[in-house]
Amino acid sequence: MNILVIGAGPAGLIFASQMKQAQPAWNISIAEKNTQEEVLGWGVVLPGRPPRHPANPLSYLAQPELLHPQFLEEFKLVHHDQPNLMSTGVTLCGVERQVLVQALRAKCVAAGITISYETPLASVAQLEAGYDLVVVSNGINHTSLELPPALAAQVDFGRNKYIWYGTTQLFDQMNLVFRENKHGLFIGHAYKYSDTMSTFIVECSEETYAKAELGFDAERDAAYIAKAFAPELGQHTLVSQPGQGWRNFMTLSHDLASDGKFVLIGDALQSGHFSIGHGTTMAVVVAQLLVKTLSAEADTAAALASFNARAVPLVQLFKEHANASRLWFETAGERAALSNADLTASFDARRNHLPPLQDALMASLGYALGR
Ligand SMILES: Cc1cc2nc3c(=O)[nH]c(=O)nc-3n(C[C@H](O)[C@H](O)[C@H](O)COP(=O)(O)OP(=O)(O)OC[C@H]3O[C@@H](n4cnc5c(N)ncnc54)[C@H](O)[C@@H]3O)c2cc1C
Repeated sequence: MNILVIGAGPAGLIFASQMKQAQPAWNISIAEKNTQEEVLGWGVVLPGRPPRHPANPLSYLAQPELLHPQFLEEFKLVHHDQPNLMSTGVTLCGVERQVLVQALRAKCVAAGITISYETPLASVAQLEAGYDLVVVSNGINHTSLELPPALAAQVDFGRNKYIWYGTTQLFDQMNLVFRENKHGLFIGHAYKYSDTMSTFIVECSEETYAKAELGFDAERDAAYIAKAFAPELGQHTLVSQPGQGWRNFMTLSHDLASDGKFVLIGDALQSGHFSIGHGTTMAVVVAQLLVKTLSAEADTAAALASFNARAVPLVQLFKEHANASRLWFETAGERAALSNADLTASFDARRNHLPPLQDALMASLGYALGR
C-alpha cells in the first residue's frame, strides 16, 4: 500500500505514525506546503495527562515531559471585574503547537516516514496515478489543493473578529475574561502552555472592532488590547505572529469524508470554533478511526466506507457543539448585564441541548484503539 499524507499537522502526523505502527510494510510519505520551521499558532489545550489520555497527542510521544506541558485544573471566569473560580472537571494540558508538531514529525521520521517540505501542488490526476490512498490533512487551507468535486468544502465564517496572541504573562488557570470599554465588549481566552508563555485569544463583535479602529496597525492593536486587559496582563505585552492578524473564524464542513482514493481528516474534514478547544483532539480521534478501519478491512474501498460511516456522525456532532459555542460568544453582548454567576451559568449551559461530545469521542476512541 502506497499512501501520501498531505499536510504535516497533528492530524496527518498522528495518522502516519499510527498507521506505520499498525502496518510496518506500508509505504507512507508526507507532503508539507510550508518550510520545516513554519508552524502557525501559539499554544493549545489538550485533554488529560499524557500518556494516560489517548486523545492527547502527547500520549504518543516517548517523553512528553520534554515538551514542558502545563497542567490546568481550574477555570476562571472574570466578569464585572470579579473572578469566579471553578474546577475544569478534567485535567487540561497546555502545550506549545510548534514543539508538539516538531516532536510528532520527529516520531514519523524515526519510523521511516519521509516528510517533504515546501512541496509543490499536484493535480488530482497526478495524485490518483501515484498513490493507492491520499490522506488530506491540510487543515482549513481547502483552496490550496485540488480535490474531487464530492469533497468540496462547505465554508462558513463566524461573525466575531478574533486574534491569536502569545504573551509572557503566565495564566495558571483556563481564563475567560469579559472586559468592556467605550467601544464595546472584548473577550479574552488565556492559559499558559509552556514555562514562559501563555496563549491569549481575543474576540469581539464586528461593530466593536470597527469602533475601536482595529485592523490597520498591528502594533497599535496589540497595545490597545493589552490596555483593555490591563488587569490581567499588567506590564506584559501581546505578540502576534506574522500573517496571523484579525480573522473571522472559518468553519469547514463536509457531508462526506472520502471519495475514490481521497480521504479527509482533521480540520480539513471539519474545523470547530476554538472556544471548545477540541480541534486537535478531534484530529487525533479521526486519524485513529482511519487507522483502525484501514487495518480492519481487507480492501481500501470497504475501509473508507466504514470510516465514512463512523467519522461523519462524530464530526457533525463536533460541528454542532462548536457552532453552539461560537454563537454564544457572538451574542455575548446581549448578556453583558448579567451577574458573574448568571453569566457563568449561561456559559456552562450553552451546549446542554446537544448529545454529549465527550461520550461520542470516547466511544470512537474505544473502537479505534481496539485494533
Ligand atoms: C485560535 C485557535 C485556537 C485553538 N485552540 C485549540 C485548543 O486549545 N485545543 C485544540 O485541540 N485545538 C485548538 N485549535 C484547533 C487546532 O489548531 C486544529 O484543530 C488542529 O491544528 C487541526 O490539526 P490539522 O492537522 O488538521 O491541521 P493543521 O494543524 O492546520 O495542519 C495542517 C498542515 O497542512 C499544511 N498544508 C496546508 N495546505 C497544504 C497543501 N496544499 N499541501 C501540503 N501541506 C499543506 C499546513 O502548512 C499545516 O502544516 C485552535 C485553533 C485556533 C484557530
